[in-house]
Amino acid sequence: MKTHPLYLNGQFVTTDKTIPVLNPATGETVAQMSVCNRSVVAQALADAHTAFQTWRHVVGKTRGDFLLKIAAEVERRKDEFARAITEENGKPLAQSAGEIGMTIDHLRWFAEEARRSYGRTIPPQADGKRHVVIKTPIGVVAAISPWNFPLVLAVRKVAAALAAGCTVVLKPASATPVCAVLFAECVHAAGLPKGAFQLVAGSAAEIAAEFLENPRCRKITFTGSTEVGKKLIAGAAAHVKPLSLELGGHSPVLIFDDADLAKAVEGTMIAKYRNTGQSCIAANRIYVQRGLAEKFIATLVERVKALKVGAGTEAGVDIGPLINAAAVDLALKHIADAQAKGAKLLCGGKRHGNAGSAFLEPTVLTGVPGASLGMCDETFAPVAYVNIFDTEAEAIERANDTSYGLAAYVFTRDLNRAFRLMDALEAGMIGINDAIPTTSNAPFGGVKQSGWGRELGTEGMDAFLETKHASFVIS
Ligand code: NAP
Repeated sequence: MKTHPLYLNGQFVTTDKTIPVLNPATGETVAQMSVCNRSVVAQALADAHTAFQTWRHVVGKTRGDFLLKIAAEVERRKDEFARAITEENGKPLAQSAGEIGMTIDHLRWFAEEARRSYGRTIPPQADGKRHVVIKTPIGVVAAISPWNFPLVLAVRKVAAALAAGCTVVLKPASATPVCAVLFAECVHAAGLPKGAFQLVAGSAAEIAAEFLENPRCRKITFTGSTEVGKKLIAGAAAHVKPLSLELGGHSPVLIFDDADLAKAVEGTMIAKYRNTGQSCIAANRIYVQRGLAEKFIATLVERVKALKVGAGTEAGVDIGPLINAAAVDLALKHIADAQAKGAKLLCGGKRHGNAGSAFLEPTVLTGVPGASLGMCDETFAPVAYVNIFDTEAEAIERANDTSYGLAAYVFTRDLNRAFRLMDALEAGMIGINDAIPTTSNAPFGGVKQSGWGRELGTEGMDAFLETKHASFVIS
């Protein structure tokens, strides 16, 4: 069985201590991943700091050229990446391929952005003065990524930080480190200077403590749960360490009577069931207006019943395993709680396969009380909660009734309504008749407890740049 290495200061390093990488479809160990202790992380930050002294002066175009080379390498090995993602994460192969396509596009987007860390000049208020604003890279960046989109969410950080002129130490999720190792191989093949990108793995709490406390680490960019995000905020307070946080979500979908029914069902299927429901921007609460409700629910249930559940490597599979059996247990708890509180189960609701399996039947429930667990916390599974509303004002109130604010979706053909909802919904991303609002060239992130800052777009690189004002007196 293969033991995957860390990537430290330009070298692949296999350690004695390893953690197993499991295939969620079978529960079998498929590889081992090297892990390291805190002193190795401290050394990685020191090497990143040394590399930063050079990398920061490499001109934007050249930094971009490196990113293009990495993109070409990822593209060349895309089938290998897809198999690795499906093996360690479980998602259907076609969805792994989609994740790789977006990864490549992110690399290309930030390759172009690298040339555009524009400052500005400001007209003086006093005669004889000149004010110039410049952008400089923040320094060594630590990136922590989750398992649900194990490649693209890591690269979203790494590509932006490298484009900005920062050096990066990445800690991927322990469940899905292999695609990060493949990415490190692509970085190596592209000839990135040693120390500009490094990969560590191991105890998250220990590694995060080093990131937080080590003064060489100038910023932490994190994607994961709100619970861990709060721990990082607490830890960062002592050091005033800047944080970018992409946290949990509880996205509402609002379907109005004037929506195109077929498109609303199709969009809801994508927003809910893509990535087996394990997406931060997944639809968690679906609200449909009374006039369309009966037809919408019937069509949705018909579509959900037709979804094929199975290992991500099987042809035609729509719903892979969850990340592990415990995730199924949690979803079943949410389903049982909703039923106990009065919700009606329309399909699914059971574990798929044998007792310990990580598969869940895709599920639809209606009439789900607001106090149900799944209406408050992320279910992170292919479970749809559908409720009926009467007025636009009621829909907005119910959509915003959450501490999260990552994404929201609206299906309507009324342009005035679309604009009203764009303003009124408390979310960082709003899909109007669009179930996949994410794109390299637009900002991605949440409001309220869904996070701080934005990735992608122009904002994605700005997150790794300092703003400096130089004031000149000229004679
Ligand atoms: P998680 O448990 O918070 O883990 C995310 C990352 O944080 C992993 O690398 C994990 O390492 C690490 N971690 C765990 N404990 C930590 C600690 N004390 N300090 C620092 N890092 C720590 O989240 P997850 O279960 O992987 O991902 C699902 C969550 O992420 C959901 O809430 C989802 O909504 C959210 N998410 C948000 C976005 C977004 O863009 N807003 C995108 C995707 C996912 P180990 O794996 O080693 O434990």
